[in-house]
Amino acid sequence: MTNFDPAQLIRADLNDFPPYSMGHVPLADLGKYIKLDLNENNFGPSPKAVAALAAMPHYNRYVGQEELREAIARYVGVEKDYIVTSNGADEIIDLIQRVFLNHGDAIIDCPPAFEMYSFFARMNGVRIVSVPRREDFSVNVDAIEKAISDFKLQIADSENLKSETHAPHASAGVCNLKLLFLANPSNPDGSMLSHADVERLLKLPVMVVLDEAYAEFAGESYAMRVPTQSNLIVLRTFSKWAGLASLRVGYGVAPKVVAAKILQCKSPENVNAAGNVAARASLDDLDYLMANVRRIVAERERMAVELAKLGWIQPLPSRANFILSRVIGRTGKEVRDALEARGILIRAFGSPRLREYIRIAIGKPEENDAVLRALKELDADKRG
Ligand SMILES: *Cc1c(COP(=O)(O)O)cnc(C)c1O
Repeated sequence: MTNFDPAQLIRADLNDFPPYSMGHVPLADLGKYIKLDLNENNFGPSPKAVAALAAMPHYNRYVGQEELREAIARYVGVEKDYIVTSNGADEIIDLIQRVFLNHGDAIIDCPPAFEMYSFFARMNGVRIVSVPRREDFSVNVDAIEKAISDFKLQIADSENLKSETHAPHASAGVCNLKLLFLANPSNPDGSMLSHADVERLLKLPVMVVLDEAYAEFAGESYAMRVPTQSNLIVLRTFSKWAGLASLRVGYGVAPKVVAAKILQCKSPENVNAAGNVAARASLDDLDYLMANVRRIVAERERMAVELAKLGWIQPLPSRANFILSRVIGRTGKEVRDALEARGILIRAFGSPRLREYIRIAIGKPEENDAVLRALKELDADKRG
């Protein structure tokens, strides 16, 4: 065994797997920055959640998720049988893919999009059919409809040729293009799908996964629709509105058969007791948390106006807790680096399409003021 190389046993298709980099700040340094790069909630969690965590007994026990699912079901307004809890919304994205997709199956991704849809698709060895958003970041429903009918034709052809290469699991009437992932509001641009577009998408022969990580900021959700819409799954999370990003509690609202299958296939302790306790305490403190959501929304509207006044920044309308803006005369990365030097973290992007964009989360009023001051300084530096 002297020359045994474990790398040779690792899946070859992971050789060029792109890493997901969020640019984490070390815990010890978190207090040094105004952090507006990851759409976190700068008002923090509910004091009731913090107290419940401090008082939590039973670290030595495995804790079930029945009460948490019940509390979420009451919050959403559906029966518990539709609710699946997960280790953040990220995990439910992976679980949905693993329950539905065989090798050779595909998802539709509409970039620029939340990266975890394609990240897990690569990890799960499934195909990604990419239907880019339009120039204004709206979803191209025509192109999605076409992608699905093209995909079906392609499968029909490969079946006619008795080819096994295209779609080894294709069976009559089932399209291997099975899942459509869309965030609503969208990340990174903050836009919402029109109601008419959602209705068109729900007519397609695929599962429509609406990621509503920012629903509380938008004041709108399709979760109540799940019981009567058999191809709809809605994803939600406590990370953003409830300020619990590090405790990792998310959930899916899915048709009963789908929820039951995911519950059967997931790790039974995927939500840990701390997340469980804090999420339930948050649902008992909605007045407090929703007041912060309203503050963030009011600040978002103020920031949209103030950013536009700078002249060289064009903010896009947002329904979430962040604003994507186009910057004129600079790249997004230049602006990000210049703000970082002033102790403010915002998000810039690697993709060519987003080269001239920055995404700024909405913080507390004084933090947002600091952003505006820093951006004005940048402009003065450039002119001076
Ligand atoms: C932040 C975010 C998530 C991830 O939420 P977690 O519950 O923290 O995993 C999911 N979807 C979108 C669109 C997000 O922006």
